[in-house]
Formats: sequence, structure tokens, C-alpha cells
Amino acid sequence: MANDQDAASSYRPATVAVTVGRPPSTPDAPMNVPVTFASTYVAGGDVEYGRFGNPTWAAFEEALGALEGGRCLSFASGLAAVATVLDLVGTDQVVVAARHSYNGTIMQLADLESRGRLKARLVDLTNLDEVIAACEGAALVWLESPTNPALEVADIPAIREAAHAAGAYLVVDNTFATPVLQRPLELDVDIVVHSATKYIAGHSDVLMGAVLTRDEELYRVLKGRRDLIGAVPGPMEAWLALRGLRTLHLRVERAQANAQELVRRLSAHPAISEVRYPGFGGIISIVVAEGALAADLLTHKTSLWINATSLGGVESTFERRRRWKSEPATIPEGLVRMSVGIEDVEDLWDDLERCLDDLH
Ligand SMILES: *Cc1c(COP(=O)(O)O)cnc(C)c1O
Repeated sequence: MANDQDAASSYRPATVAVTVGRPPSTPDAPMNVPVTFASTYVAGGDVEYGRFGNPTWAAFEEALGALEGGRCLSFASGLAAVATVLDLVGTDQVVVAARHSYNGTIMQLADLESRGRLKARLVDLTNLDEVIAACEGAALVWLESPTNPALEVADIPAIREAAHAAGAYLVVDNTFATPVLQRPLELDVDIVVHSATKYIAGHSDVLMGAVLTRDEELYRVLKGRRDLIGAVPGPMEAWLALRGLRTLHLRVERAQANAQELVRRLSAHPAISEVRYPGFGGIISIVVAEGALAADLLTHKTSLWINATSLGGVESTFERRRRWKSEPATIPEGLVRMSVGIEDVEDLWDDLERCLDDLH
């Protein structure tokens, strides 16, 4: 990949997404990286064994690393990436985290705390004073911005100041924004985490995660944890995620344009009491005025929108979040999180409007 590398460093992000992580450009070389199924390698090289590395992961890591501006490690899932990062924290140390972070992250923190591994301080991301005060004495500060599904946005530079003053690592889960809309490492954040299952892979057919950092020492430690714990992706997953990444810009731009138009129309509909949208991205949360039952009715009556959890795929999906017992009580019963896909916005709206009109 050496001959492409120099040119790639000057390319803009959409070009980087298409070009980085290809095999060397020599006659008859495949243009795209092949899927390498290998549990072991001939001895004497850098990789040696399938838990330590794989050429297909390496291509994915190179591409996502170039987009986020750091070194990348791929994982079996987003939560495998989260677990590996939380493992940096020593026994009894404090982790500050946004109360409305991804449910699985909050559950991992609760699990670790219940077993005496760490202390979790959950904060309201919209109250900057509270977040800054909580950073005192922390070892790690975990942000998600925007949060899932409350869609709160963090003041990353202000929180970074407080986290670094306390000597804590600052981590941002960038799953919702993607490197197309937000590059936290450029804001001097220490670690970025992704559920690549969502926008990065983008087609609702892969589970994968990623961790990124600019800090060589942190990279070495995190790679060591991955080598040891073994929550590594399959080569086919890495290949699918890289294939998805090639169109990330187009998908995010289209999903965002659709979302912005839907926000305008949803805000004017009397069946909806609240529309939450941070102004960017493809995720909208609406609160159905008449509550849980009406929200359930909506998610079961559409024909184009699919009632399903997860997000960031090409297809539009939505779900009532409180159908999950683990969802915090601070999320309204009637809140429906919508992951806007890349379909024609008029079809998306027709389907929603028909069902919303029935509710009203
Ligand atoms: C889905 C998700 C995760 C977990 O990722 P998996 O790939 O499902 O393990 C973590 N963070 C956010 C913001 C998510 O949406």
C-alpha cells in the first residue's frame, strides 16, 4: 500500500474512505483486499497467529484509522471494544460516564461495579458543571455524543480540559456521529470507540467494533489486551465492514438529508409531542403524545419502516426504546428512536404520516 500512502495523506475524507486499505497497485493485483481465512501464518513474520492479526482486518483498520486520524484496532463487536477500553481502569478507580450512554455500556459499568472492579459515576451530559465536577479523581471519562437515544450532545473540548486536568483518559463513543460528522481525536480525545455494526458497516449484516487512538503507548496496551482476550472479528466481517466503509460518506449524507426533512414534517404533526434531533446525523427520537401503547401501534403498523433495534443501516428502522427492561426510566415511555435510512424521503414520510394520522 506504500505507493498509495503518500497521495492518500493529502486526500479529503470522502476520497480517503474509497482509497485507503487497498493492496499495492501492481499489474494483476486484486484491486480490493481479499478475505484471508487463516488461523496461523508461516513463522518468522510480524503476525504469527490469527488472534494477533489478519490482512483483511489490517485493511479495515488502515481505512478507519485514516478517517478518524489515529491507529485502529478492530474487535468482534462494539461491546467487545467497550470492554477492552474499560479494562484499562485499575481496581477501585472511578469512571465518569454519561447516564444516557448506550445501554450495553451502562450495563457493563454496573456489572464491573457490582463485582468491585471500579466505581461508576453517572452524569447528566446536558449539565456541564455536573460533568466537570465529576471528573475530579476520575481515571477515565466516557462520553457518547450524541447519546443513545436521548440525543444529547456533549461539550467535548470543555470536558476534555476537566478530564485531562484530573489525569483521566477521555473516551468518545463516536458510533452515532461517525468520522464523517465528528472526529474526536482531532479534539485531543484519547480514545474513540465504534460499534462498526452500525453506520460503518452500514447494511445490518455484520457485528463489529473498533478502538482508535493517537497515543502509541495506549495502542500497544490495547493491542495487548486484544491479543490476550481474543475478542477479534472474523475476516469475513472485516471485509464486509470495509466494503461498507467505502460508501460511508454517501450513506451518512443521504440519511442526514432525509432525517432533516423528516424532522421538519414530524415537528408539525399533532400526534407527536416532542422531536429530538441534534441537528446532524441520521437518528431522530420522537415522543408519541399518547404514550407507550400508541408508540407500539405506530411501530407495528408501518409497511416501509421496520420495527427493529439497532441503527445505521441503509434501511429505515425504528423501535420504542422502553420496550427494553434495561432502558432507564428517564427515557419517556412513548419515545421511538428512528434510524433514518437512504430510501426516498417521500416514501418514508408517506408511510409514517398514514400511521400517525391513524393515531390522532
Ligand atoms: C450498538 C452500540 C454499541 C454496541 O455495539 P455492538 O456492535 O452491538 O456490540 C455501542 N455503542 C453504541 C453507541 C451503540 O449504538
